[in-house]
Amino acid sequence: MVASSQTSQYAPTPRTQVRRRPERASYDRQLVHSIIDEAIVCHVSFIYEDQPCIIPTTILRIDEDLYLHGSPTNRMLCVLAQGVPAAIAVTHVDAVVAGRSGFGCSVDYRSAIIYSSGQLVEGPHKAEIVDRVIQSVVPGHRVRAPKQKELDATMVLRFPIVEVSAKVRDLGVRDYEEDLGLDLWAGTIPLRVVAGAPVNAPDLRSGIRTPDYALNYQRGKG
Ligand SMILES: Cc1cc2nc3c(=O)[nH]c(=O)nc-3n(C[C@H](O)[C@H](O)[C@H](O)COP(=O)(O)OP(=O)(O)OC[C@H]3O[C@@H](n4cnc5c(N)ncnc54)[C@H](O)[C@@H]3O)c2cc1C
Repeated sequence: MVASSQTSQYAPTPRTQVRRRPERASYDRQLVHSIIDEAIVCHVSFIYEDQPCIIPTTILRIDEDLYLHGSPTNRMLCVLAQGVPAAIAVTHVDAVVAGRSGFGCSVDYRSAIIYSSGQLVEGPHKAEIVDRVIQSVVPGHRVRAPKQKELDATMVLRFPIVEVSAKVRDLGVRDYEEDLGLDLWAGTIPLRVVAGAPVNAPDLRSGIRTPDYALNYQRGKG
């Protein structure tokens, strides 16, 4: 939910200013949220011992915060818990674009990059975040209540979304006028995340039917 005091746009900063193809940049709050919410995975980069590191991990957004979670022994989380700055990227490839020249070949995409620093989440809020992660990945899924030892074995970090940019290419083929008459196919091939048929756990108790949320699972445009 966007608080009424918030504008519909994030404010660009020198760091989030898209330089190449700035017309593809967006700082629209709803667009940024939709890009993040469609993702299961983000890539988190940070500096550790003077070296750049990048790690894929599950992402959750609630309002104007991102949440990462994992083992308290997870190097990335331990480093970020100390306030080391992170750059977090979310990417969706919507289509491959086959132009009439190599230069005209491209991809249509939506991406968001967030610069932020993490804060440790403790107390009852942590269990809520863990539950929201489950609901974000498998909406409607029911699980038993977490045990305290499981919560103790889970670290949760919160990253305020303040400094962020999105970039979108949805142009399809944009070939040069002079190439349009060539005897070559050109077009886009859309890509979608498509869920397969659910596979019951081999040790599933008999008599438990596969729930509708699993049968009808959809991600993004489906
Ligand atoms: C799936 C995919 C494939 C791509 N393939 C190519 C490719 O093959 N060649 C190529 O040149 N570019 C590609 N891009 C675009 C690429 O991500 C950068 O936008 C591009 O390198 C231009 O960067 P820059 O030098 O203008 O910006 P930089 O100076 O590198 O970035 C400045 C700021 O702009 C913002 N920004 C830059 N790119 C993005 C982005 N994609 N999403 C959100 N914010 C962004 C960030 O806040 C960043 O800090 C691809 C993007 C995606 C999502």
